[in-house]
Amino acid sequence: MVDFHGLGERGGDLAAEDCGHHEEEGRPVGRRDLHRGALFTVEAAEKAWRLGALDPFLGPAVRRQLTTFCDLSDAAETETQVAESASVMSRIAVDYGELRQSLLRDNRQTEDEPPWRTLRNGTIAVRLRLRRRLRHHEALVLTQDSRASSVQAQQWTFTVLSRPIDPDSRATDFAVTLHQRRGDVDESLYRADGPKELKESEDLVQQMLYGLSSLGVGLDSDVGRECPGVGQRGRIIFLEPSDEWHVQCHVCGVKWAGGSDILSEHEDRRYGFW
Ligand SMILES: [Zn+2]
Repeated sequence: MVDFHGLGERGGDLAAEDCGHHEEEGRPVGRRDLHRGALFTVEAAEKAWRLGALDPFLGPAVRRQLTTFCDLSDAAETETQVAESASVMSRIAVDYGELRQSLLRDNRQTEDEPPWRTLRNGTIAVRLRLRRRLRHHEALVLTQDSRASSVQAQQWTFTVLSRPIDPDSRATDFAVTLHQRRGDVDESLYRADGPKELKESEDLVQQMLYGLSSLGVGLDSDVGRECPGVGQRGRIIFLEPSDEWHVQCHVCGVKWAGGSDILSEHEDRRYGFW
């Protein structure tokens, strides 16, 4: 549960991940140039406004955002397209620099609690807050895991950094799953599922829920305890050598003897579910 992060962990290779590598050389101005320009701004901001233990979270997040934009946009052909793409890439880089400066200011703030701060792609949120009694700041970080997500369940990590600007900060990670509510495909409402250790801190749970809201995640607080696994395909466990089987819910773990592997109505009775 508790471990130590240095720079460069958690996939936090801060080296530039160039995009547009499929393009032929010799284009007048292409995505690769725009990407390089934006990366220059990003790297200058990282050198000027150092954030210690937060860097392994922020650096990869902005680079993923730039790469995603590169991959999604067609190669800039006309002058208008070049200008539009350059504006978006520049805006991402400028926002990133402003985010870093805001977090540095938050780390000195001793009056009001600073808000959650996010990158605009909605995959990372950071909040610094002063632990008055301990007389130092801590950081709360919510990051969406870049792999291992599906439409029905997104994997996130909620991290508490004991000393955000110190590269040797102690980090405590909680794995969080966002389950999309059955029948909520249009509205995309979610419920959050986390470990017992997180549930034991009402303060941290509240912080996490506010952090998810700041990222635009719609949380369904009005659903009772119906398990998000209902209607999905559960696990079949054969009871050899007999020809009987159990069906187990992959979300909450409850089991039934025999029957269909499509999970019927049931409540989630676990500890640690919101
Ligand atoms: Zn269940």
